[in-house]
Amino acid sequence: MNPVDGCPECQRISAAYEAATLEWFRLQGQLRIAEYSSAESESDSLIAELTAVAKRRQALREAASQHTLAAHSRATGACS
Ligand SMILES: [Zn+2]
Repeated sequence: MNPVDGCPECQRISAAYEAATLEWFRLQGQLRIAEYSSAESESDSLIAELTAVAKRRQALREAASQHTLAAHSRATGACS
């Protein structure tokens, strides 16, 4: 992730990516607790959520690189 200063689309993607990253760490923490307490069904649903968040982060990384190519490939630092 390499957001360009002042570009609202970069900021939007980067903020969504950060939110997904925080969500991923939160779910990891919950999963660890669920595994300690042997809450198997809870672990399963947390793993499913983690997979979904991981996909969202991957999609956002792709969106960021596509946007960078489309909007920032010529000029550095300008959002045209
Ligand atoms: Zn941008």
